[in-house]
Amino acid sequence: MSLKVTMLGTGVGVPQPGRSQAAILVENDRSLLLDCGAGTLLRLDEVGHDLEALDSVLLTHLHLDHVSDLLALANARFLADLPALHIFGPQGTEIYFRIAKSVYPNLDKMNATVQELKPMDSFALKGFDIFVEDARHSVPALAYRLESEEKVIVYSGDTEPCPRVAALAKDADLLIHECSFPEPFDVTNHTTPKKLGSMIRNMGIKRVVLTHLYPQALGCEDEMAEQVIELSGSPAIVGWDMMSVAI
Ligand SMILES: [Zn+2]
Ligand SMILES: [Zn+2]
Repeated sequence: MSLKVTMLGTGVGVPQPGRSQAAILVENDRSLLLDCGAGTLLRLDEVGHDLEALDSVLLTHLHLDHVSDLLALANARFLADLPALHIFGPQGTEIYFRIAKSVYPNLDKMNATVQELKPMDSFALKGFDIFVEDARHSVPALAYRLESEEKVIVYSGDTEPCPRVAALAKDADLLIHECSFPEPFDVTNHTTPKKLGSMIRNMGIKRVVLTHLYPQALGCEDEMAEQVIELSGSPAIVGWDMMSVAI
């Protein structure tokens, strides 16, 4: 069976038309959510995904554009009388959820579970073997490699170009990598197309989807993808909300 990846949210903390905040839905015969920024619940409904089938979320980091709909998702499952949500995330996820519980006592009734992950962790979840690596961002941030039935998906989360993320992506069938700004922006904590393309050159990555685009990228999408293709040697496209990729 093929894997289906749907880009629910390809945007950032700054509102912009057509780009909701970070979220990716990965489906084999089960499903898994990567990040849960504002707009995720609406996008899940728009793609017709049943909340019942979605009980696990992997968070890359705790910036609001990656977690804003997390409590809303836990609450939506609670209101629908569904079993607990399982949340996996970086260092800080447990205290984040504990503080949220002190503000919203109802969260206690939801029985959500929280598991913090570290770089180099690996575990099995929903038919995927999941490998965790450090990303390079302004707060603790993780990248994920998901392997299922000999298919490999890698998601960078927010990161500067990072050799550890590149190594994680080696030979991936699909790399979903942040590419926040077009050239010639000089940014820290995030990635631009030329740096990304150079970093993943000759890594055997079969397809790259760029995500986490700031409004400054508007109108530069084709050029950004071409720069990644030229330098990496891998096919690349800019992601849009609701775009699905089958691998
Ligand atoms: Zn972000
Ligand atoms: Zn961030």
